[in-house]
Amino acid sequence: MGWARVADLDVLGAPFQRAAFGSGAFLRVVNWHNTPDARRGDLRAQLSGYLDHYHPVQPDDLDRFFETGRWLLDRPGFIPAFYDGYRNNVTVAAPVCEELGISAWFFPPTGLLDVPPEDQRAYATAHDVTLLPEEPHAPWWMTWDDLAQIGRRHVVAAHTATHAAARDITTPEDVEREIRQPVRQLTQLTGRVPPAFAFLYGTPPMRGTLAGDAVLACGVRYATTNTAYLRIAD
Ligand SMILES: [Zn+2]
Repeated sequence: MGWARVADLDVLGAPFQRAAFGSGAFLRVVNWHNTPDARRGDLRAQLSGYLDHYHPVQPDDLDRFFETGRWLLDRPGFIPAFYDGYRNNVTVAAPVCEELGISAWFFPPTGLLDVPPEDQRAYATAHDVTLLPEEPHAPWWMTWDDLAQIGRRHVVAAHTATHAAARDITTPEDVEREIRQPVRQLTQLTGRVPPAFAFLYGTPPMRGTLAGDAVLACGVRYATTNTAYLRIAD
């Protein structure tokens, strides 16, 4: 997974990457989704393992890197990212991170937070959100109050409203619902513009598309992607 200014991707060739990886100047973004209570110990062990080798990264660390061009941490960076606004992120992931002194990044699709418990299963099926067999009972998603609480100790980032893919955001109404409104709501809730935005499927914001241009213009500084990995040969 790569984090870079979209405009800069062209200059990050293989020699640059080899030197950066060799010197420990890189960032590892690790994605979690459901964090059920039954796997609390696994999650703690995974996060502890990363802490042995990586430095948890905050938006300010990324900003300083892009301002100075230098990696100012003494170890490679690590971003624990929790997706999709699950209630078990509130009851398990956030407390485990806090035990370990980690400030993590949470990416809730804001529209999910408004779905009443009785409608959540059907909504999950329709919007590509996985529910676990070991959690048979609603509610599955956090509330706005939960998210406000998380925002006091962690980073809250944007992940559309309805868990939308960039390719499905094709009208001005889609842009308003999936990009502008979530960014506004998260800004109001946390007092900060969300530092990062992720589309469903982790596609990068493509300049020249309605969805991509809207993300690039909405004040969010970083795009979290699954697919914009950097080239390894020139
Ligand atoms: Zn997601």
